Amino acid sequence: MPADDLPRTPHFGLDLTYACTYSCPYCVLPKAGPPRPVQDWLAAWRRVHGRHGRCYIYMSGGEPSAYPGFYELVRALTKMHTVDLCTNLAWQVERLVPELSPEVFKVSATFHPTQVPLEEFLAKAVKAKDYLPQRWPPKRSVYFVADPGQMDRMPEYQKRFEEDGLVLVPLPLMKGQDLGNDEAEKRAIAASSPNKDTADRKLDYQLKQLSPKGRLCRAGQLYALIRGDGKVDRCTRCEDRALGDFFASDFELWSEPRPCVQDWCPFESQWVVQEQTGAR
Ligand code: SF4
Ligand code: SF4
Repeated sequence: MPADDLPRTPHFGLDLTYACTYSCPYCVLPKAGPPRPVQDWLAAWRRVHGRHGRCYIYMSGGEPSAYPGFYELVRALTKMHTVDLCTNLAWQVERLVPELSPEVFKVSATFHPTQVPLEEFLAKAVKAKDYLPQRWPPKRSVYFVADPGQMDRMPEYQKRFEEDGLVLVPLPLMKGQDLGNDEAEKRAIAASSPNKDTADRKLDYQLKQLSPKGRLCRAGQLYALIRGDGKVDRCTRCEDRALGDFFASDFELWSEPRPCVQDWCPFESQWVVQEQTGAR
């Protein structure tokens, strides 16, 4: 373990496709390009496995299940890496659950109430319960976008999820390059967030109450975000493709943490080096 207790296992975000099966009113997706074939992804991930062993992949998009070859790719990837699927659950859960072990396959599901009836989503979430994140141990959780247009009904939804043993966790809304929540909404998010009062101050970063600018961050070293075309950024907010091309045979992560140049870190602040420990 490094001094700041972060795992040495490299983690990757993977924007598998920018296509989606839904059209949520708060969604802004880049234009979907032609999908890379399954074999291209597998060859690149085999190289990464050869260098780092089993890595952790946050597979996202868009909606990853909109990618042609989705089931085939997930099955093959979980043989060498752990796949955490960021999904709207609009796929056939029973095609991967329980076939794949929750040790190597995880499901981070988000409920989008304008696109799917609550009971339909809930039935799938319950089916995949052992694969959902344990943000409130021992309970499993699913996510909910804190869009002003649907915040009023959040308590009602939370109550229904709770009846089935699940916690509904609100995610702050991104509006363009900024936070899209007002003070009242921020208070409602904080009240239901597992990130409240944690040592890494993740909620303060999410709600723009703490700036990452100038802090050393391991995004780029222990974590990187692979865009749909294979170009790699150190994180969601950095869009300069500083880590090059994931499909290139010489692709590699940085060997050290580097200072952050952004003034807001809504998603990946867990990679900030904690001040009291120093970096190495
Ligand atoms: S499910 Fe996600 S990716 Fe799809 S439209 Fe909704 S917010 Fe966008
Ligand atoms: S925005 Fe966040 S994850 Fe990205 S470099 Fe800055 S602190 Fe790290």
